[in-house]
Amino acid sequence: MTAMIIDGKALAARVRAEVAEQVREVIARAGMPPGLALIRVGEDPASAVYVRGKVKACAETGVAGFEHLLPEATTQDELLSLVRTLNSDARVHGVLVQLPLPRHISADLVLDALLPEKDADGFGPHSAGALALGRPGIRPCTPLGCLRLLDEAGTRLSGARALVVGRSNIVGKPLALLLLERNATVTLAHSRTHDLAAEVAQADVLVAAIGKAEIIRGAWIKPGATVVDVGMNRNAAGKLCGDVEFAAAVERARAITPVPGGVGPMTIAYLLSNTVQAARTQLGLSGPAK
Ligand code: NDP
Repeated sequence: MTAMIIDGKALAARVRAEVAEQVREVIARAGMPPGLALIRVGEDPASAVYVRGKVKACAETGVAGFEHLLPEATTQDELLSLVRTLNSDARVHGVLVQLPLPRHISADLVLDALLPEKDADGFGPHSAGALALGRPGIRPCTPLGCLRLLDEAGTRLSGARALVVGRSNIVGKPLALLLLERNATVTLAHSRTHDLAAEVAQADVLVAAIGKAEIIRGAWIKPGATVVDVGMNRNAAGKLCGDVEFAAAVERARAITPVPGGVGPMTIAYLLSNTVQAARTQLGLSGPAK
């Protein structure tokens, strides 16, 4: 069996087109576009690439992007003061603080300062608590993108054994909760998991969010499983690759996402989608269009 390759690039373009349509509706009803503030502190090269991608996607969908590039020497207080200014800026409906922040700044304090309704990434304590309690709220973008990829591949989640490898607050943990909400039987594995190969062998749905090149061997995968690979790594040859040994996994899985071109583009598309939903809530447009 050769797996279906789930095309995240094409699906993300479709999500961005859906977002662009919703942006037009917001403009028609409220007379203003949804606005997203993007804050980057310092010169982390990967962060610069990510923020550039997000600014470009804002322009493409009609979301107003407000970029704030701050020097490495920015103090905790200066950043908190910018967040508070954006909290009360009516043009801004979502605020994204690109992580990681320089070591002298606490990401927790910054996330605590952000108004929950503007928490476009869904990383703050209010959003995380709402997800854990099953209440409405903003959900993190990468997990939302993973779910959409699974749905696109026609994956049955209800009653399925789902294994999420990685328990970060931005990917693994929220994704496990979203899969639980969709009635999967969820296992959350991490670096202390006793026998990862045995866990993988049982999974109908496997999501890898580890950050170690091809650590999940293709031969471990249950035949017919659906695999979503969140990892972004460089292999020994310097080539971009995921956490799953793709060439072997493709021979066993029913469907699999590639790296690059899988989860990455979906994360940005759902950031914009979250911004539009935040704008609709703040502008009182949450009901159907009249
Ligand atoms: P973190 O480093 O925060 O978390 C990694 C997780 O993997 C931890 O829970 C860790 O366990 C677990 N882990 C580490 N080694 C092993 C192992 N040998 N076996 C099992 N589990 C292990 O990473 P992130 O969640 O932020 O990111 C994960 C990957 O996804 C990275 O490659 C990142 O670049 C990528 N990523 C991609 C995105 C995209 O849009 N495509 C978005 C976000 C991330 P423990 O908790 O015990 O330490």
